Parts: sequence; structure tokens; C-alpha cells
Amino acid sequence: MTLTDTTASATAAPSGAVLDGPALWSAQAQMPAVLGRQLVIERAEGSYLFTTDGRRLFDGTAGLWHANVGHAHPELAQAAFDQMRTLETFHIFQRFANDRAIELAELLAGISPIPRSKVLLNSGGSDAIDLACKLARRHWQREGRTSKQIILSREHAYHGLHAYGTSIAGLDFNREGLGTESLVPETARVSHDDLAQVEAAIERIGAERIAAIVSEPIQGTGGVNPPAPGYLEGLQRLAREHDILLILDEVITGFGRTGEMFAAERYGIEPDMITFAKGVTSGYAPLGGVLAAPRLWEPFYVDAPDTPVFRHGATYAGHATAAAVAIANLGILERDGLVARAAELEHVLRRELEGLAARQEAVVDVRVAGFLGGIGLDERIANDRVADRAIEHGFITRPLRGNTLQLSPPFIVSDQEVVDYVAAIELAITEEAAR
Ligand code: PMP
Repeated sequence: MTLTDTTASATAAPSGAVLDGPALWSAQAQMPAVLGRQLVIERAEGSYLFTTDGRRLFDGTAGLWHANVGHAHPELAQAAFDQMRTLETFHIFQRFANDRAIELAELLAGISPIPRSKVLLNSGGSDAIDLACKLARRHWQREGRTSKQIILSREHAYHGLHAYGTSIAGLDFNREGLGTESLVPETARVSHDDLAQVEAAIERIGAERIAAIVSEPIQGTGGVNPPAPGYLEGLQRLAREHDILLILDEVITGFGRTGEMFAAERYGIEPDMITFAKGVTSGYAPLGGVLAAPRLWEPFYVDAPDTPVFRHGATYAGHATAAAVAIANLGILERDGLVARAAELEHVLRRELEGLAARQEAVVDVRVAGFLGGIGLDERIANDRVADRAIEHGFITRPLRGNTLQLSPPFIVSDQEVVDYVAAIELAITEEAAR
């Protein structure tokens, strides 16, 4: 099963007629397959969602890996309310700034695994990727090494769906049907797990043409794939040897998901840039950005008349209310010890998933890194059908590439809730296997 397969399972015999429905065009959906069976969420509390048709669902994926402190947290609502009453936002172009954006950037620079980081802000993960790739190209143009333009990314990679994310996706179906192979032509895919192949690709393309390599520390949408032992370290070594910038996409892993504030710390990596989003606000406000190393920002800070400008910025870059929510969210993570709690929950999840794999023949493998798990299913059992069954039992899991199910609950769940969650998925697998 693949992501494309999961969106293609129409329920009734198709008539060929154009169907109508709500004005909202759903994301990543084959519309006839979802019309009439949408799960409309109207309310949430902690780790539970409530739908308009009366269901109570355990949010086992933290939405799209974002709701790390759980849903409807009153302190985050209060932070947004207070900020909006004071200053909803003001842009940060040229001389302007707002105090919340400044405060958030200081906080992020303080916890960044990259020493002396500067912080670029915008509205989400796809934005962050576009920004990081542009900054990588801008860096080499400014250095006069104008041929260094290609962005490498890994097979099975997901980096959002803006122009760069679409172009560097290692999930090919996200690039299909656009009339061109790649919106940004200067990209190439490399092996997701074999360093010798990565090195061969660098040599074939030529380091003088490569600006950066982008990698998720743990691939998310591509199927919850922790890095092969030594892979990230090796990628860093190759990047340094060949003078290629290393961009770590921590949109999923940032802010505690791996039991460290950033996965860079878990794997001992010091990239040139880190992209972040999701967990920075736990999804309460759209916000993302880039942490950039001194070699990238210093030339733009030189006190000289011809110092260049990096032409980035958007209306909502440094949005004051989003920043206020992020500050409050980071405060909750720290006060409630939620990063350490995610590290504890990793052990519970691993224990439960290993038990599941030992009991269930239909489970080919389980993958856990941080409080982030994937269940790989035998090809005879379709992950999207198991996910649908789990919903009937009140638990959300998500089908991903490689016939995988995603497990990434909020960090506030109890050990028992993890046990119950895995048990519900096991029941769904057993039912599907018996079908
Ligand atoms: N990078 C990674 C690793 C992601 O998982 C995602 C979103 N799932 C993105 C980038 C894109 O983020 P957004 O959806 O906020 O644009």
C-alpha cells in the first residue's frame, strides 16, 4: 500500500457523474472516496477528538505529528487571546520588528543545536524548506561559486508541498501531473540508506554543482524510517568533505519528539540549517522557520556599504500571535518536562510494538525512534483498511508509504493509553487478517 493507494479506494461503483459536496476541497484526497464519509472534528480535549457524528477518537498521530502538548490547551488559547488584544501582529520587514518575534527567536537560538544560530521565521514546514533551499543557493551565489545550485534529497523523503518541497520529494507521486518532472529543475535524489551510493551520486553530479543536501533525521511520511546506523553521521561527513551544506528537516522531530529537543542532538549532528514547524507551536498557530549557522548569516551582517540582502520575508513571517503561542508552548514543554516524558514514552511504545510484532504474523517489522513508531504490515493486509477499522474502535493511526501505520501520540498520554492504543491496532489487524 502507498499513500496514493489509500486515496483511491472508492466505495460504490463509479457512475462517471460529477459529484457535488461541501465547498471544502480536502487535502491529499481522491474526492469521491471521501465524500459522505468525512470525519468532521468539532472539538478536542487533550489527546481526544470529538466528531460531529458523536465519536470520541484517540489522536494517536497527534494530528499530522504536531499536537505534542495535546489539544485545546487553555494556556495556549490564553496566550493567543492576550497577544491579539495587545498586538495581533506587525511585519518584520526592514526596520520593523515585534517583541514577540524577537523573544521567540532568542529562545530558539538558545536551544538550537547549531551554535550562534540566527532564526528565520515564516508560517510552516513547506515554507521553511523553500526558505532553507533558497538560502543555500543564495549562499553559494554570494560566494561566487555560482554553479552550486542542486539540492540533493533522499528517496522516500517528504519536505512539504511548496515548489521546493514538491521538487525534492522522494515520494514520486507528489511530483506527478504537473507537466514537468520538477518545479525546481536543480534537484536530485540520493539513496535513503546507503552512503556509498550517496557518495557515488555526489561524484557523478559533481560537488561543484551541489548546494545542499536535505534530510529528515527520521523519515516521517515516507514510512517512519529511522536512519540506518551511521547514516546521518556519514551524510554530515560527506557534506563537509565536499563543501555541501547540510539541511536537517526537523519539522516532525523538532521540539521533543525524539526525547531530545532536536533529533540533531540524539544523533550528534551539527547541520548548517535546521527547518522546523509543527511542534514549535504544537500546531496552535501556523509557524515554522529555519535555524541557520554563522557561515550562512555572517556575510549578511557585515558592517559595509555593499553588504548583500537575503530577499526573504512574508506578511506573516514573525507573526506576533503565532510567536506568542510558540513561546507559551515552549514554556509548557519545559515546565511539564514533556521532552523527558517523550523519552520515557519511547520505551513504552517500543515494548508494546515489539510485543505486537512477536504475536502477529501480519506485522513484518516495527520501527521506533523517539515517541514515534511505524508498524510495517504484510502485503496481504492493507494499512488503510486497518486504519479505518482502528477508527471504528476509537483510535486514529495513519497509513503511510510501505504499508506502514504511523503511531505518534501527544506527549501527554499515559503509559496505559499507549498500551490501549497498540491493543486497538492489534485488534484491527486481527480482524483484517481474518477477513
Ligand atoms: N517537512 C517534513 C519532514 C514534514 O513532515 C512536513 C509536513 N508533514 C513538512 C516538511 C511540511 O510542513 P507543512 O505541512 O507545515 O508545510
